[in-house]
Amino acid sequence: MSISGGIWKAIERGEALKCEAIQIFTKNQLQWFGKKLTALDVEMFYSEWKKSNIKKIVAHTSYLINLASPDRVNYEKSITALIEEVKRCDELGIPYLVMHPGSHKGKGERWGIRRIADALKIVLEDTSGTSTRILLETTSGQGNNIGHRLDHLAEIMSLVGKEDRLGVCIDTAHIFASGYDISTEHGYRNTMKYFNRIIGVSFLFAFHLNDSASPLGSKLDRHAHIGKGFIGEKAFSLILNDENFKGIPMILETPKEGNWDTINLATLRKLRGY
Ligand SMILES: [Zn+2]
Repeated sequence: MSISGGIWKAIERGEALKCEAIQIFTKNQLQWFGKKLTALDVEMFYSEWKKSNIKKIVAHTSYLINLASPDRVNYEKSITALIEEVKRCDELGIPYLVMHPGSHKGKGERWGIRRIADALKIVLEDTSGTSTRILLETTSGQGNNIGHRLDHLAEIMSLVGKEDRLGVCIDTAHIFASGYDISTEHGYRNTMKYFNRIIGVSFLFAFHLNDSASPLGSKLDRHAHIGKGFIGEKAFSLILNDENFKGIPMILETPKEGNWDTINLATLRKLRGY
């Protein structure tokens, strides 16, 4: 949901669509740093949230942050920017901050995983007084992005160690494009079993529910409307009705065009059965 006009406006926008969870950027996502939140921003945000039916709010980091950047200046800027984002979330009472792990730009996955873990250690140390959890998002594997194997996320988490501050967000379009076939019941169960084995289902704190406009294993990040892509409705029905994921925020990141938010939400509610 857009925060244009004030950060609390995102809550109004979510309410209008009867959302139970929303995702926001806590500042312009194309900029490194945001204006400091005023006391009024924070107060408006809390009061709108409290009187709404929205239970969970998830934030997403700026796209500029790259914790695997080989460039030292960019790497350090990414760390500083992420620290700022964690603090903003904490001020707003937002429990989860989703981020793409990072791109190693040709330095290799092993190198990238270590670089990200080192950065996260600094960020979590610097924000040790806060309670916002950083959620590493599964990626499609486009370019040199880390996170297209669940093993990458497991390894980063074990290198960092801070179990109370880290978790995972599964993006259905990304995980499918990266090669995990969640479109069939058998494939879905196998993927989740594997997730549970190497990461643990208790570390899954959010879903991005997107269909994929690119096929299984294509490594291309292309979001489609629910039921209109290569994944199909089945996977969403399995996730929505999975006892393990009750109460976990599930966020649409489908193209914002026409009244597709309404249509996609109606499809998901139909699949959930209430
Ligand atoms: Zn996503």
